[in-house]
Amino acid sequence: MSETTSLVHVSKYTEKEGKEIRGSSSTMTVRSIFDGEIIRTEFDKAGINSHFVHSIWKYVIENPNCEWEQIPSLPSAAYSLLRSKFKPLTSTLHSVTNSTDHVTTKLLINLQNGGFVETVIMRYDSRLGKYAGKPRPGGLRSTLCISSQVGCKMGCKFCATGTMGFKSNLSSGEIVEQLVHASRFSNIRNVVFMGMGEPLNNYAAVVEAVRIMTGLPFQLSSKRITVSTVGIIHAIKKLHNDLPGLNLAVSLHAPVQEVRCQIMPAARAFPLEKLMDALHEYQKNSQQKIFIEYIMLNGVNDEELHAHQLGKLLETFQVVINLIPFNPIGTLSEFRSSGEEKVSGFQKILRGTYNIRTTIRKEMGQDISGACGQLVVNLPDKRSVKNTSPVTDIEDLCRQ
Ligand code: SF4
Repeated sequence: MSETTSLVHVSKYTEKEGKEIRGSSSTMTVRSIFDGEIIRTEFDKAGINSHFVHSIWKYVIENPNCEWEQIPSLPSAAYSLLRSKFKPLTSTLHSVTNSTDHVTTKLLINLQNGGFVETVIMRYDSRLGKYAGKPRPGGLRSTLCISSQVGCKMGCKFCATGTMGFKSNLSSGEIVEQLVHASRFSNIRNVVFMGMGEPLNNYAAVVEAVRIMTGLPFQLSSKRITVSTVGIIHAIKKLHNDLPGLNLAVSLHAPVQEVRCQIMPAARAFPLEKLMDALHEYQKNSQQKIFIEYIMLNGVNDEELHAHQLGKLLETFQVVINLIPFNPIGTLSEFRSSGEEKVSGFQKILRGTYNIRTTIRKEMGQDISGACGQLVVNLPDKRSVKNTSPVTDIEDLCRQ
């Protein structure tokens, strides 16, 4: 395995476009063509049939640098409307960083307001897994970890993004554009909202972005899209109605309110008891498993007592618990990773005593700060490379 991290700057492709956009659009006067509601409203107002929207999106996905005039067979009113109010892509790709074994690729994306977000492609080989006792069908596929905000106001103490504070919400178009950029590098089959930001704090844009991703021309299955939240109770209550079939992941990280508040200040606003009530309701309505994310922090939430508390809290749910080894975030971090033995002991209690399916996440992309809790806008560094072999992903978990 090579020790180098490959970094490709793509600013040539973006520079001119980026400056043009930044110079004129701090007020977002130029919208993304993937801001679905806005483009449809504008077409309606101009008397243009909105069924043209899908063919425009398809053309832009295949030709992200296109000029509007190149798109064939649109009504003439559509060309002038597109020219005056929309850009094929409002965001530009600033740089691409590959992990040493090319399993993980991080894209740094420059938004039209000058902000940056990161999106991470993780590649899997489904043939290495088993399904119903047989080698799984299919082959290479990719999961895209998407950002929904620039920074995040939830301030989780173990999370690099939390250290940035909140800067801005992404529009639905800016969220979808991450998929468009990533599709140039890999065939994306799964999307997880586990990048920068708390997706349910940007609810309307996330809902619209998911609807666009599951419709023409992307046609991703809603079963392959996962939204991860710290537990915004009022949003969880409406999520199933707005996006049926979606996977919900909850960043629980502690089995009792006191420890939760210690590591996730936002948990004070969302008491654990009320959160569990909302999850019961969600599961009753959706009849779907819920994914529980649990970061393992040495001496904080990783004792046997915590495993039993977690087991009791979740034993009446259909859940899959994903234990996440903590990624150190430099000198800022007051936390340490739990030892491997402690993590596997924790898993054994949840499996053996409570019969809860519990996995341990194998980290990908640590050398490029692309792993969970590490998404913060920075240039690639050269952290030590850990095992990044193909892993079980959320899709594998959903099938079982
Ligand atoms: S873990 Fe998620 S919700 Fe918490 S600060 Fe980080 S990005 Fe925000």
